Amino acid sequence: MAEQKRDYYEVLGVEKNADDAAIKKAYRALAKKYHPDMNPGDAEAEKKFKEASEAYAVLSDPEKRRQYDQYGHAAFDGAGGAGGFGGFDFNGADFGDIFGDIFGDLFGGGRRSGGRSNGPMKGANIRTSVRISFEEAVFGIDKEIELTLKDECTSCHGTGAKPGTSPETCAKCGGKGQVVFTSQSFFGTVRNVQTCPDCHGTGKVIKDKCPDCRGTGYIANKKKIQVSIPAGIDNGQCVRIRDKGEPGTNGGPRGDLLVEVVVGRHPIFQRQDENIYSTVPMSFAVAALGGEIVIDTVDGRVIYEVKAGTQTDTKVRLKGKGVPSLRSKDVRGDHYVTLVVQVPDKLSHEAKELLKQFDEHAGDSLNAAKNISADASEEQTGGSGKKKKKFKF
Ligand SMILES: [Zn+2]
Ligand SMILES: [Zn+2]
Repeated sequence: MAEQKRDYYEVLGVEKNADDAAIKKAYRALAKKYHPDMNPGDAEAEKKFKEASEAYAVLSDPEKRRQYDQYGHAAFDGAGGAGGFGGFDFNGADFGDIFGDIFGDLFGGGRRSGGRSNGPMKGANIRTSVRISFEEAVFGIDKEIELTLKDECTSCHGTGAKPGTSPETCAKCGGKGQVVFTSQSFFGTVRNVQTCPDCHGTGKVIKDKCPDCRGTGYIANKKKIQVSIPAGIDNGQCVRIRDKGEPGTNGGPRGDLLVEVVVGRHPIFQRQDENIYSTVPMSFAVAALGGEIVIDTVDGRVIYEVKAGTQTDTKVRLKGKGVPSLRSKDVRGDHYVTLVVQVPDKLSHEAKELLKQFDEHAGDSLNAAKNISADASEEQTGGSGKKKKKFKF
């Protein structure tokens, strides 16, 4: 047996004297929360959605609401039993009109009723991409890109009809640009409104096509477009150029051109947001004694004074040598440099002797075997990674 039905007002969470706007608002909120598209596979949500939809179908209709107020659920009992709501027969009801409005708002387009699609519509956006270098992204650059853009055909002035003829009203949709079709869904028969397949929403059909544009109303032209790429742009970000997209229909404006910026890698710099990172070598002598080194930055070379006794992997910050902020040119990130002591692998005889002397003089030779008694010693053998063992007896 069907379970006890909840009161429709209770289902929507509205007062008995709620007006149409309040009922619609309450249903919208519930439909959004429980719509099966938003809760795939959730049986409980689907049940709640059906319950709310049923309540709304009744309470949004003045006649049905009056009957319900008078007789309760009994008003619809035995009225067919085939409807998706267990008893209430929705077949033939103007379901698409009741719900299309709400779902059109909720999910954007497609199900909205009314003949709007043959009004002025903005053209689609076009996406393209442009490659720039690391430095160009940091400082900005103007790039010229070539693109095929559709323009209104001058022969037919965009109608697509052969000059001297004009488009005729579409017979399938009667010029509305949309057709109504019905479909079965879990809550009964639904009337849906769809773009007319014969005229694609224009409301007009062309018998004699314009030979220049083959009836499309548009001619494709190669265009050169200047793209001003702002300083600080990052890989994957887009520059929007208004009115350089697809032409609009029925007098609507053109769409936009979206240019995605692909930033090339730099051999020594890495970037994270507005900061730049690099690794710079210094000699052991400079690390120990201090001295000047050269650091490459996006602004050119700078001389940096290394303090005596600087350890390897020391990080230093070059303030304001990073990437300009997209929001404000005057704000720049920083450049973080990791100083790494380079151990020489090719040494002259003299250099080797000096290093040995240095080690003697340093006094506190770090972790050297001669200062510590060991049970065994190992020696690196180079590339193979194998180690031979020398045992002391
Ligand atoms: Zn044409
Ligand atoms: Zn049509």
